[in-house]
Amino acid sequence: MNPIQTVIDLQEVDGRIRELEREAKDLPRRKALESARLKGVSASLEVARNQLAAAQQRIQESEQEASAAKDRVRELKILQASASSNKEFQQLAMAIEGLEHEADEAEARAYAMMDEVPRLERAVKEAEEKMSGETGGVDDFCKELDERLAAVKEELAQLAVERTEKAKLVNPRTLLYYERLRAKRWPVAVPLNADSVCEGCHLVVPPSTEQMVEHKMELVACTNCGRMLYRDL
Ligand SMILES: [Zn+2]
Repeated sequence: MNPIQTVIDLQEVDGRIRELEREAKDLPRRKALESARLKGVSASLEVARNQLAAAQQRIQESEQEASAAKDRVRELKILQASASSNKEFQQLAMAIEGLEHEADEAEARAYAMMDEVPRLERAVKEAEEKMSGETGGVDDFCKELDERLAAVKEELAQLAVERTEKAKLVNPRTLLYYERLRAKRWPVAVPLNADSVCEGCHLVVPPSTEQMVEHKMELVACTNCGRMLYRDL
């Protein structure tokens, strides 16, 4: 057996641990993104509801303005009927005309706003539907993520045990080298290809290094990146 085989076995376990650790870190992030998306949907619903309420309020205000102007017109017409002079009559006529114009404009504003209402109501309905559809979906999705996270943690616990066993089989001096390099370089043990190129850093190693690899020495480091080299087993 190639003496580096024990390192490769250990590295294989470490590779799985690294992947799972990355996933364990990523799962809460995905969950947070999903919750944020739901918040966005709920915010859109609130905006749509507010827009509808504002339009309804403006309609009401314009209608009140129109009706107040019309009331005033009626009052002025009564005064006009008993006007004591032609001048007074003319002044009241002008005021009445102004108020009638005001009432017309307020009514026009109310009608224009009423035309907007069906669209705004539709937007609220759509946002409500989206919200109710999303809530269930997001809950399920978050539950799935929680379950996956639990499974990942369990697998990591098992792998930690497996790792301890594998590490015991590695020569202590080699293990020390491997552990030190593991923090900076991954993978630690890489093949030296037929062109004497280290598959970690992709640089050519000197013939002496290649010779040591050929002789299957247990710990041959790449002269450039320090990775442990082996010939394909
Ligand atoms: Zn290298």
